[in-house]
Amino acid sequence: MTLLVVDRLTKRFGGVAAARDVSFTLAAGEMLAIIGPNGAGKSTTFNMVGGQLKPDSGSVTLAGRPITGLPARAIWRAGVGRTFQVAQAFVSMSVAENVQMALVSRHGRSRSLFTDTRRLYRDEALELLGEVGLRAEADRPVAELAYGDVKRVELAVALASRPKLLLMDEPTAGMAPRERGGLMALTARVARSQGIGVLYTEHDMDAVFGHADRVLVLVRGEIIASGPPEAVRADAQVRQVYLGE
Ligand code: ADP
Ligand code: MG
Repeated sequence: MTLLVVDRLTKRFGGVAAARDVSFTLAAGEMLAIIGPNGAGKSTTFNMVGGQLKPDSGSVTLAGRPITGLPARAIWRAGVGRTFQVAQAFVSMSVAENVQMALVSRHGRSRSLFTDTRRLYRDEALELLGEVGLRAEADRPVAELAYGDVKRVELAVALASRPKLLLMDEPTAGMAPRERGGLMALTARVARSQGIGVLYTEHDMDAVFGHADRVLVLVRGEIIASGPPEAVRADAQVRQVYLGE
């Protein structure tokens, strides 16, 4: 099932096209990586899908519904979850409380008037923490965790909104190399089992080629190659322009 259709998205800053006629589709349960040199337009593309930037032209359709240029909050409500390059968690709160806060924002606040918020959605939070392998850390303050585990908290927080599509901006940035594969393997497992489409940008080539179903290569705002990781890795133009061979 096609989840996301991006059609000829274009964004200019001054005279420069940061993204030009960028088109691709993404299926439910698929891992799609966007790679390219610095300044290629990866974040610009990403931000147009997530609603942080309004495109100059082109369209974004999620599960058949046009979401082009809607505010980020409306796009989140339509089913687009997001993680950030620098993990965003409330460090003084516990792991479970971070997830519970996300559940409150999905379900609404009304019940919290009459319920102890520390207990609210506790079971659902623990279930989500189980999915990311952090159930045993539920009551620890986030501040005590290793950075790789903070990224897992962030993933659980994003999953709490039950997204159809997850946008991950350089998810392994700042992580120790040995932790990176684990986070991407976990993301792929959860995405495939729940039918969530994942669009991610990445610098770590192992994280891309090891876990993506398809790879898009963006150079100077345009897609120069796309396909399964092995085909992209072997593409002569990609090797020349992007990998510098
Ligand atoms: P990437 O994420 O691939 O490194 P970006 O999408 O951040 O690339 O940037 C693409 C191009 O657009 C770059 O030339 C960058 O300088 C420019 N750019 C990005 N954001 C802005 C902005 N807010 N204002 C002006 N230029 C921008
Ligand atoms: Mg970027």
